[in-house]
Amino acid sequence: MKGIIIEADYVVTCNSTDEIIKDGAVYVEENKIKAVGKRDTIANYYASSRIISGKNKILLPGLVNTHSHSVQTLLRGKAEDLSLIDWLQKVILPGERSFSADNVYTSCVLGFAEMIRTGTTTCNDMLTVHHSEEGIRAAIDIGIRARIGKMLMDVDINNKKEKLEKTSDIIAEITDHIKKYHNRQKGRIKYSLNLRFLLNNSTDLIAEVVKLQQKYDDILIHTHASENRNESKLVTQQFGKSYIRALNELNVLGKNTILAHAIWLDEEEYKLIKESGTKISHNPSSNSKLASGIADIVKFQELGVIVGLATDGAPCNNNLDMFKEIRLASFLQRLKYLDEKKLPAKNVLRMATIEGAKTLHMEKEIGSIEIGKKADLVLLDISDVNAIPLYDPITHIVYSASGKDIVLTMIDGTIVYEDGVFHTIDIEKLKDKAKQYLKS
Ligand SMILES: [Zn+2]
Repeated sequence: MKGIIIEADYVVTCNSTDEIIKDGAVYVEENKIKAVGKRDTIANYYASSRIISGKNKILLPGLVNTHSHSVQTLLRGKAEDLSLIDWLQKVILPGERSFSADNVYTSCVLGFAEMIRTGTTTCNDMLTVHHSEEGIRAAIDIGIRARIGKMLMDVDINNKKEKLEKTSDIIAEITDHIKKYHNRQKGRIKYSLNLRFLLNNSTDLIAEVVKLQQKYDDILIHTHASENRNESKLVTQQFGKSYIRALNELNVLGKNTILAHAIWLDEEEYKLIKESGTKISHNPSSNSKLASGIADIVKFQELGVIVGLATDGAPCNNNLDMFKEIRLASFLQRLKYLDEKKLPAKNVLRMATIEGAKTLHMEKEIGSIEIGKKADLVLLDISDVNAIPLYDPITHIVYSASGKDIVLTMIDGTIVYEDGVFHTIDIEKLKDKAKQYLKS
């Protein structure tokens, strides 16, 4: 079987030595990278059914978005200038609750389309309480790689007495989802256990979810934590201890858990995260827009904690372009430390690729351009004015490039987007449907 050759002026591998191959190419067969090297060598050794020209292009690993809410995409622009708890209680939760099955599907496909259009090939996605299977179907249909699952939420912040859903019903539903969807599409879809956050989750539910996770090697717990000062204060009032200590006591911390945000921590909490092997998802735009704070990424990295990068959902960003996160993540650490050497370009690009893959326990499969890895690749155009002159491909990607410069996105060996055309969905029909939601 003949595969595809993708050429590029620069192949930015994000491998262990951060190798960059000038005038490089990659040979892809089925869903895997079979060869990486110089353009001429690859052309001489491999017979292909197609050669994609790499003139004025950088080839890089598909970006990894470690915390997203594709289902909130239809709420983009609907919740402006609100504090976290008001943002959630007044707009986002009622919005999510009001969605029909069709709304969930449309919202998720729209979110995934924006990620794919801007170079993301893998996401770690929290869906809604209801119709979550529609969101999984959306990921299957469009072709994105995802850890994805129902939003687990059984407590109303304002009415703690009545449970929104029975714990046994939630566990039965997600056990069924795991059977149906985990490791489907040749492993492209993996189920995830998405606890919303401590104020929305009963301790019974958390205990059952922790128990369920322990049955599976490859299913992770994904939750929000210590995002905002007021939220952290409410957790301390309710649990009698600070956020990370409460998670530790509830056995949520561990190598199979990803915490989104993790901003307001004391020294002992950093230690608990480090010692437990818990992973962190950093969301710089969302943290800035909701005035949550600046997470201490430099400190996490110095401690050896694995940190990936993320967009969060469309209503707190308001876009899903990882290139904006890459740039802002670097700048915020420099401002926090008043040190121009903090979070340099190479480091922050790794957070969006191989470190993101490690955050999601997928580094053996994705996150770098290496032989044997899944063919999740993106081509970035460098012919436009923002790329001239180009002294260094990495600083270009980190500081100058935008997701709009992506001209090709390949996931699992399949080209899902190329030169303005989505190959797996009817984008015009999708846009019309999304606009109709606004009118409804
Ligand atoms: Zn979030």
